[in-house]
Amino acid sequence: MADQNLMEKIVSLAKRRGFVYPGSEIYGGLAGTFDYGPHGVELLNNLKRAWWDANVYQKDNFYGLDAGMFKNPRTWEASGHTSGFSDPLAECKKCNTRIRVDKELDAIGVTADEKMSEEEINKLFDEHRAEIACPKCGAHDFSRVRKFNLLVKSNLGDFTSDGSEPVYLPGEACQGIYLDYKNVVDSMHPKIPFGVAQIGKAFRNEISPRNFLFRTREFEQADTQLFVKPNENKEPYETLKKERMDWYLSIGIRPDNLRLKQHANLVFYAKDAWDIEYNYPWGFDELEGIHDRSDYDLTQHMQFSGADLNYTDPETGEKYIPWILETSMGMGRLFLAVLADAYREDGLGGEARTYLSLSPKIAPVKAMVSPLLKNKPELVEKAREVRAALRAALPGVAIAWDDNGNIGKRYRRQDEIGTPFCVTIDFDTLGEKQELKDTVTLRHRDSGEQERLSIREVAERISRAIS
Ligand code: ATP
Repeated sequence: MADQNLMEKIVSLAKRRGFVYPGSEIYGGLAGTFDYGPHGVELLNNLKRAWWDANVYQKDNFYGLDAGMFKNPRTWEASGHTSGFSDPLAECKKCNTRIRVDKELDAIGVTADEKMSEEEINKLFDEHRAEIACPKCGAHDFSRVRKFNLLVKSNLGDFTSDGSEPVYLPGEACQGIYLDYKNVVDSMHPKIPFGVAQIGKAFRNEISPRNFLFRTREFEQADTQLFVKPNENKEPYETLKKERMDWYLSIGIRPDNLRLKQHANLVFYAKDAWDIEYNYPWGFDELEGIHDRSDYDLTQHMQFSGADLNYTDPETGEKYIPWILETSMGMGRLFLAVLADAYREDGLGGEARTYLSLSPKIAPVKAMVSPLLKNKPELVEKAREVRAALRAALPGVAIAWDDNGNIGKRYRRQDEIGTPFCVTIDFDTLGEKQELKDTVTLRHRDSGEQERLSIREVAERISRAIS
C-alpha cells in the first residue's frame, strides 16, 4: 500500500535537517537531480564505508577500483548501450506528461520484455491502453510508444561540434571494471575467483525521474564483479545473494522490508538474475540487482577492442574468458531505504516527536555534546573540554556541538538527525555534587533514557556502538 504521507514526511525531514536538497533549487531546480547536505554526505559516506568494508576488506581476493567516467565511445557500442539501452516512452496527449510504458504495464501486472521492438511494445500497449491512466491528469489518451535511448551525451573533445561520435557519460558504472579487468589481472595477479569493487557515478536520461532519490538522472552505483571459471557460477551466486541480504541487516535494515525476487525474463546471455527489493513507501521495488552474466561482457569488449581478455590459469596454463557475477546497488536507493526504514514517530515524554532510529554505525553524527545552559560560561567551557576529550578518544568520529535553544529542543533536533547519543554537561559535572564531579549525562535516542557516566565511559559506549 503506497504511503504518500510517509514519503512527504521523509522528503521534508531530509531537507529540513540537511540530508538532501533538490538540485539547483534557487534556479527552480533541474528534474532528477539532488544534492546531499551536511548530514546527508555523512550518512552517504558512512554507507559507502560500510559497503566498502564488507566488499573489499572483509573479502578474500577483492580489489577496489575508481575508474574515470569518460570512456572511449566504443565502450558503449560493445556493451550494447548505444543500440539497446532504451526505455519505451509515451506522452499524454492532454497534459504532455511522459510515462515509461514498461513500468506502467508492470504496475497492472503485464511484463514488457526489454528486447521488444517498437512495434511489439506498441501492440502490447494498445491491448492495455484503457487500463493505464496518466499519473498527472488521469486521461487515457496517449501517443504511440517510442523507444528512447537513455545514454547522456557530452561534447568532450568534440571541437568540430558535429556530434558524430559523442563521448557518453556512463550509463552504468560497472563498464569501468570490465575495461580495467586486464589491468587488474596484470598488476595484482589475482587467482580466480576474484572480484573488483567500485562505487561510481552513472547518468541516465530517465523519462520520468520520480520518487525522490529512487529514480534520478545522476546517481551512484556500488558494484562488485566477481570473475569465476566458466560453469563454476552456481555456488558463488547463491553465496552472493545471501551475503548481500545479510549486509542490509548489518546496517540495521528491518528484515521484513527486504526480499529477493527472481527476474521473470532474462536477457539472452544471462544465466540468472535476482533483485533485492526494499519495501519503499509505495511498495517493494528494486534496490539492488544480482546478475549471473556469463562471459558476455568480456567477450564483447574483447571483440570490439581486439585486446586479449583471456585469463590464464597460473598453475595449469588453461586459458578462458571468465564468467561474471555482478552485484549492483544504487546509493540513492539505499539512502532512501535507510531513511524510510529508520523513520519513527512517537510521543516520548508526552510530546509528539519524530526520530530516525539509525544504526549508530551509519548515523551521520554519533554524539552531540552540549552545556545544559548556554549563558553559563563555566558550563560552556567544561562542555568544550568534554567535546575535545571525546574527539581525542574517538578520532574519525563525528561529535557535534549544539547549544541552541533549550535542552529539550536540542534533543529533538538530534533525534531527527538520528544522533544516537547526547552528552550533557551540568553543574554536577563541575562538582556541585562532589561524587558526580566529571560525570556527564548520556541520553539515548530511541528510549530517551539517561544515565550518569564518566567521560571515559561515554567514549567507550560510543566506540562500542559504532564498531
Ligand atoms: P530500473 O528497472 O528500476 O530502471 P535497472 O534494472 O535499469 O533499474 P540496473 O541497470 O540493474 O537498474 O542498475 C543497478 C542499480 O542501479 C539498480 O538496482 C538501482 O539501485 C540503481 N539505479 C538504476 N537506475 C537508477 C536511477 N535512475 N536512479 C537511481 N538509482 C538507479
